[in-house]
Amino acid sequence: MSSASSSRPRTRNTWQKRAIEEILDASPDFLSAQQVHQAVADTGRSVSLATVYRVLQTQVEDGVVDILALEDGQTLFRKCASTGHHHHVVCRNCRATEEIEAPKVERWAEHVGADFGYTDIDHTLEIYGLCPRCAHKAS
Ligand SMILES: [Zn+2]
Ligand SMILES: [Zn+2]
Ligand SMILES: [Zn+2]
Repeated sequence: MSSASSSRPRTRNTWQKRAIEEILDASPDFLSAQQVHQAVADTGRSVSLATVYRVLQTQVEDGVVDILALEDGQTLFRKCASTGHHHHVVCRNCRATEEIEAPKVERWAEHVGADFGYTDIDHTLEIYGLCPRCAHKAS
C-alpha cells in the first residue's frame, strides 16, 4: 500500500506524533483511532481526532504501523513485531491476532495480477475465525 504524496508536512505536530507513537508502542493490541485518541487524552494531553487519523495514516504509509480492516468495517492500528509485509489471523470475538507470512499468497497475487497485465501489484489479506480460547469458551 503506497500512495505517494510528498506534499504532506511531516515535521509539524511532532509532539502529537510522539504521543501517538507512545500509545502504539505500549499497546500489544490493535486499536481504533478513537481508542488511540482516548488513550492520548488519558495522559492529560489533547490531540484532535483528525490529527490522530493523519498521524496513523502517515505511519501506515511509512510501513511503521499495521492497519487491520475488520469484517464490520472498522479500521484498527498496531505497531507489529514484524516490519516486513505480512498478514494476520484475527479472532472475530476477542480480536486476538497472529502475524503470519504467506509466501504462497504473495506469489499467487503477483501471478494473478501479472496475468491481467497489471504491474505494481499490492494486496491485503486477513484471515478471520475464532481463536482456540474463544472456541473453547463457546463449546
Ligand atoms: Zn501485523
Ligand atoms: Zn478469541
Ligand atoms: Zn501478502
